[in-house]
Amino acid sequence: MTAVRHLTAALPDGVLGADPGRVESADEYRGGGGYAAGPGGAQLLHHLAESGLRGRGGAGFPAAVKLRAVRERGGAPVVVANGEEGEPGSVKDRWLMRARPHLVLDGLVRAAAVTGAVRGYVYLADPEAAGRIREALAEQPPPLPVDVVLTEHTYVAGEESAVVRRIDGGPALPTAKPPRPFERGVGGAPTLVANVETLARLALIAARPERGRAIARTTLVTLSGGPGRPLLTEAGYGTPLRDLAAAHGTADPAGALMGGLFGGVAGPRTLDLPLMPEALAAAGSSLGCGAVRFLTAADCPVATAADAVGHLAAQSSRQCGVCVSGTAAVAAALAALATGTAGPDTPAHLERWAGGLPGRGACGLLDAAAGTAGSLLRAFPDLVRHHLESPCPGCAAAPPGDGHRLTVAVPQVTAPLPALKGTP
Ligand code: SF4
Repeated sequence: MTAVRHLTAALPDGVLGADPGRVESADEYRGGGGYAAGPGGAQLLHHLAESGLRGRGGAGFPAAVKLRAVRERGGAPVVVANGEEGEPGSVKDRWLMRARPHLVLDGLVRAAAVTGAVRGYVYLADPEAAGRIREALAEQPPPLPVDVVLTEHTYVAGEESAVVRRIDGGPALPTAKPPRPFERGVGGAPTLVANVETLARLALIAARPERGRAIARTTLVTLSGGPGRPLLTEAGYGTPLRDLAAAHGTADPAGALMGGLFGGVAGPRTLDLPLMPEALAAAGSSLGCGAVRFLTAADCPVATAADAVGHLAAQSSRQCGVCVSGTAAVAAALAALATGTAGPDTPAHLERWAGGLPGRGACGLLDAAAGTAGSLLRAFPDLVRHHLESPCPGCAAAPPGDGHRLTVAVPQVTAPLPALKGTP
């Protein structure tokens, strides 16, 4: 069971809310200042740019740049709240929609005000979250038509071109770019596809523009691995990663799988860094969607990398030839390394793929696979050499698979009890 709680006390600029284990009603949201009249579109865009908010779907693109691009296309734009989190180690988006649907919808409406959108969608795969969003739409009807679109839960279904394709009635599979959704999105209209945590933070910025920078420097994180049960929590940028590990219950992590499957495997030195996208990027890692899986001394980084890329290979949409062959090759090489059956040239092959494959697929899945291989070679070179001779005891006992071990369950959120007839 995944826990959801504050690290210490509720952060004043956070999205976790006062009681993260419970569904927030419209009245409660309004009571906290939600849905209040705020700055107009141009003014809010200015506040957003000042805040420096970056998208929370994984890529970390500046949110203001993305919204401005749609706004400046004109026409009849569309906004999409993207709640389909395909990263197996992340649960923040589904929790957010289940527990604080009004915060997400408020952010969607604010994004529509900024971009001039005339239609909105909430795009997700989680049926429980879809139910909460529908209830919230009925409680507080938005000023523009908003539809809920269900999709399948896959690694690539939340990629922005896949989102557009699915809403338009096709399969939830990425397409080649350009055009990007801001150029030609849902129904051919300029479209903003924004992660639900990004929209939640936009709503907070609209309510308290003077706190914009602080709101933008706080993030949800899903912590897993180690002996502790998975934990969804919220932390400010600058929080030492080792403090997060301790809060999760991993006292002395030997490494971590960073950013979901997008930040690669990191050695202990990376864990001396603060939770800070720039610091992690400089170290060759990534915060991605905020999912961190801590490794103990009993967890083999080779097996973890093999598991991660095994999952990516299984989730490839098999549309790009280079991804079909490349991801499978990286997965097979890492699995062979883990089980002690790799040839002496395997590290050289992995090195070549890590350098040559990124950027060649229509989405980031191939990059994640290549990046994971490269990170393993950089962070654990001695371990890779040892595995060429024989697998470690952990790998021998539990060979890597398709990554199901990396999956984290969504925390349970308690719905309010329906009022009994005749009770006040
Ligand atoms: S890179 Fe892979 S997962 Fe992405 S669109 Fe191409 S085949 Fe599909």
